[in-house]
Amino acid sequence: MQIIHGKSGWIEIICGPMFSGKSEELIKRLRRAQIAKRRVQIFKHGMDARYDATSIVSHSQMSLPGVAISDINEILKLVDDRTELVAIDEAQFFHEDIVSVTNKLANQGKRVIVAGLDLDYKGNPFGPMPKLMCAAEYVSKQLAICMSCGDPANFTQRLTSATEQVVVGAAEIYEARCRQHFEPPAEDIPAKKMNQEKAGG
Ligand code: ADP
Repeated sequence: MQIIHGKSGWIEIICGPMFSGKSEELIKRLRRAQIAKRRVQIFKHGMDARYDATSIVSHSQMSLPGVAISDINEILKLVDDRTELVAIDEAQFFHEDIVSVTNKLANQGKRVIVAGLDLDYKGNPFGPMPKLMCAAEYVSKQLAICMSCGDPANFTQRLTSATEQVVVGAAEIYEARCRQHFEPPAEDIPAKKMNQEKAGG
């Protein structure tokens, strides 16, 4: 990804299924910004306390300390005027206000990096992610490895029968799956339905 440095800010999105390396990529970009002595502030949704209540932690145990919030509008009060880079992890859990909040921060000249799941366990767009992706200057889509066949995986398979959109967990509840092996719970899933129609099913 080539980023043109100018006076104006911008929004970068890192999206993909669970285990696709979103947190690792976010941490990598943040570490590089810190090496460049940029002023950085890191936020994540308070709901995701799987490994740590406030830090961003990857499944491979890379981590960076941050601040947990549940109302995205809080960021506007918490971000210092001098901050050059604002990072937000687990963006899918936030209210759609995240679009106007990140636009505001970018309009103030800040680099805003947002990581989140683009699809939920049914294979449907997750929360504010589609709108965020439209608002962003840069979108990086990550893929994981399918746990059934080893192909690139775009989907997050829930391994339990829970039906809430949000059930926080890691490898004990979810695994990455490719298009072929993803088994959504409902029948009206566009990605899967198209597969079945093609196969005559
Ligand atoms: P995300 O934030 O997208 O959930 P993380 O950055 O937390 O992903 O974790 C990525 C790491 O997860 C990989 O580097 C690898 O060590 C581990 N991992 C576990 N299962 C898988 C998988 N199915 N595909 C790819 N990486 C996996």
